[in-house]
Amino acid sequence: MDHFLYRDGALFAEDVSVATIAAAVGTPCYIYSAATLLRHFRLFDEALDGLDHLVCYAMKAASNQAILKTLAQAGAGMDVVSGGEYMRAKAAGVPGERIVFSGVGKTAAEIRLALEGGIRQFNVESEPEMEVLNATALAMGVSAPITIRVNPDVDAKTHAKIATGKSENKFGIPISRAREVYALAATLPGLDVIGIDVHIGSQLTDLAPYELAYQKVAELTEQLRADGHTITRLDLGGGLGIPYARDNQAPPLPSDYGALVKRTLGHLGCEIEIEPGRLIAGNAGIMVSEVIYVKSGEDRDFLIIDGAMNDLIRPAMYDAYHDIIPVREPAPGTEQVKFDVVGPVCESGDTFAKQRVMPPVGPGELVAFRSAGAYGAVMSSEYNSRPLIPEVLVNKDQFAVIRRRPTFDEMINRDTLPEWL
Ligand SMILES: *Cc1c(COP(=O)(O)O)cnc(C)c1O
Repeated sequence: MDHFLYRDGALFAEDVSVATIAAAVGTPCYIYSAATLLRHFRLFDEALDGLDHLVCYAMKAASNQAILKTLAQAGAGMDVVSGGEYMRAKAAGVPGERIVFSGVGKTAAEIRLALEGGIRQFNVESEPEMEVLNATALAMGVSAPITIRVNPDVDAKTHAKIATGKSENKFGIPISRAREVYALAATLPGLDVIGIDVHIGSQLTDLAPYELAYQKVAELTEQLRADGHTITRLDLGGGLGIPYARDNQAPPLPSDYGALVKRTLGHLGCEIEIEPGRLIAGNAGIMVSEVIYVKSGEDRDFLIIDGAMNDLIRPAMYDAYHDIIPVREPAPGTEQVKFDVVGPVCESGDTFAKQRVMPPVGPGELVAFRSAGAYGAVMSSEYNSRPLIPEVLVNKDQFAVIRRRPTFDEMINRDTLPEWL
């Protein structure tokens, strides 16, 4: 459920009309609903009721300061994957003890940044990283709390670019080598081993892969404890999928997921962390775009809009589907038509949908891409020198620009000329 619904013939974001926002900030733009963000965070939080737990929002999904602050004020921790994300989380007021640091390529500088500013734990992904973390912590005279990310070799049955839990993926250490790697970690005095981390992929629409992975984590916990390690925290990753197409079968609910966590891991007495990103932000955001032209091709009609692949890359990168709906609600009984929906960028890949059946729209009319809140604005670029598009946050009947569109001059003046030119 989200808060983007038609009211009296017009699409609303909570209590604000989408057309009003588009008129104020221009198109294309991203619009987020605070109520939807909070609702999704609370669903996860409540799903783990009864377990000692922390929901760490995977902020790479959507990392605007206003989004982070909205979630942080509700009690969310953050899962960060770079020094920049760490600094963003701190700037949004998230204390270090609620920030976990994931990622296969943490640099010594990033590690130092987090050790200085405070960190809940590092999710370590390799032995070389462990050595650097150990040396950095020792040099600073501190000890670094860690979990080790294990790769359980389960098939998440999702798009290849977002599957992370198979042995061919770059993530984590093979679970078959876990005992050996934990034994090494225990000999490094700069590390404080506290738990296990696992994250098998993104946009999972079935709970079965989680069940397999978490059973393996439960077994490993008992094994490591028998080996003499103290395992008090389990970080279970994120990855629960969202319904991108309205008529699709809905993916599992956070409550089903929570029940699975309790069933597979509840008996171990560990503190549980989860790292949802997409399910918190995905349906909490839309991208709004204006139709520029309708162009008739030889065998198809192209809907040319002012949004492009640089603004929302998911269709080009992941073959992702987004519902595209008119901002003005079609009259009942309106006949659907077929469009290839494309942007102005000079790439054939700048295609949002082929032969999409949708209500007719024409030049000057607005369309909304649903479920664009996660991996939307954060993956945007200024390719074709199209300035980054603005982001707007709605809260009931208020809205605020949370990142404005740069002017052409601002975009150009980020470049600097060498003195010889
Ligand atoms: C991307 C990522 C997540 C979040 O995945 P979603 O599919 O957005 O829930 C969580 N943990 C780690 C380590 C990640 O890389």
